[in-house]
Amino acid sequence: MSYFSGKLVEYPEFSLDRFDEKNVEAQAFFLSHCHMDHMVGLDSEEFRARLRSKDDVHLYCSPITKDVLLSMKPYQSLEPHVVIIEVNCATPIILTHGLSGKEVVVVVTLIPAAHCPGSVMFLFEGMRGTVLYTGDFRVARGKASCISALHSATQVKNIQSIYVDTTFCDPKLYHIPTREVCVEAIGKLAEEWLSRSRHHIVWLECKSKFGYEFLFVNIAQRLHIKIHVHEDKLQTFANVPEISQHLTTDINTRVHACPSFCKQSRPPCGAVGRVLTIKPTTMWFAMKSQEDLLVKIEDDFYRACYSFHSSYSELRDFVSYFNPVNVYPNVVPPGSTVKEVQERLSSFCHHPKDRGEEIVLRPLGKVQQADHFPSPQPDDFESLFGGIPPPTHRKRVSRAAEKKDSEGSPPPTLPIALHHQENSRVASTSPESTHINNVTAVLAKHPLSHDDDVPKNSSKYQRRLCKLEEHCPKLIDGCE
Ligand SMILES: [Zn+2]
Ligand SMILES: [Zn+2]
Ligand SMILES: [Zn+2]
Repeated sequence: MSYFSGKLVEYPEFSLDRFDEKNVEAQAFFLSHCHMDHMVGLDSEEFRARLRSKDDVHLYCSPITKDVLLSMKPYQSLEPHVVIIEVNCATPIILTHGLSGKEVVVVVTLIPAAHCPGSVMFLFEGMRGTVLYTGDFRVARGKASCISALHSATQVKNIQSIYVDTTFCDPKLYHIPTREVCVEAIGKLAEEWLSRSRHHIVWLECKSKFGYEFLFVNIAQRLHIKIHVHEDKLQTFANVPEISQHLTTDINTRVHACPSFCKQSRPPCGAVGRVLTIKPTTMWFAMKSQEDLLVKIEDDFYRACYSFHSSYSELRDFVSYFNPVNVYPNVVPPGSTVKEVQERLSSFCHHPKDRGEEIVLRPLGKVQQADHFPSPQPDDFESLFGGIPPPTHRKRVSRAAEKKDSEGSPPPTLPIALHHQENSRVASTSPESTHINNVTAVLAKHPLSHDDDVPKNSSKYQRRLCKLEEHCPKLIDGCE
């Protein structure tokens, strides 16, 4: 459950995943995904009034998140104010600085968060530093190096702050098997049950509204059976055939994921047959320190380990890879305090041995080989669930090596273009084309200026320029 306040220290003009209280005064709003703990205030009249108050105040999200959001009745009136940004396309957002009234540009990039369909992290780059807000996310160990938006050429970006999903930032949750491994185990179990007779059926008892689609699609493909869901879900993903083609509202199918709102042992749709219930969960396995992927509770009821949040070791790997100046927890895991979580995160950025006792780590689930990663997903899965392509470059290369690399190859371009949509001041993006001229135009008009005036010939200005170049060399190129 998110306890993030909605505000970034560096860019308080923005509000992320919180739309209540002071957040309502923000100049730009960002929604990482449609889970209720990230939507507080989103259906309030106060928030709607803020969006209506100015033409250039918008709610930004990914295209699939927009579909999911607008499929829910309480949010449909937000439609004129929702602006989509394609993933992995750097997009300038223009802000007005409160007192001075000066316009400043912050570049935002949406990065697939591999949490649920459409979920993203937000990367902000501007003169107050490069900041990453992960929302809810799951990135496998070793995969941080594959996220191109967090690298400049072959170098890791210099990240000032990470606001990170710490749902499982607890040593008890050191290892959680990958989704691919869990899906394989669940698929085998379901397959075996269905093979007993044509009257045997499977019910996937999933507690949250979104997040299990990766499981559904994989099970459906493996068993060549469509999965029964509530018609709302089919409607939600009507524009996403990669998901909707595997779902059905026909109760005569043999695999069900229709949601139950009370404790029961059968699919709530009333499907007839011999039912095997499989309940995917993470916390139950953590609390019981279970090492198996599947635990038989009764002959026809299994719990299955399945997580769409990063494990402790995945978090440690991710944070230590970027080694930010600041790292802030977005969630306090059950049984922990904010201080404990903060200390764990801080230890990821430095050397744990300097900080006293070593932490005793217990694995959850069968520990995999450290060098084993799931095979890459097909392209359609990458965009939906945030599958990350295999590593293409190493972490942190020397500046000299980087310079040598860049010699002989054309300078990188930034694929963004001004978006001429009414009431919008965001750049829309087209992955196929490069629009460096448009970016140059935006940034020439609205340079990445700091809050105060600094003479261009001063050493302070030069230092800032160097810092900006480190943060975002592409933008410096664009300004010239
Ligand atoms: Zn959450
Ligand atoms: Zn979530
Ligand atoms: Zn059903």
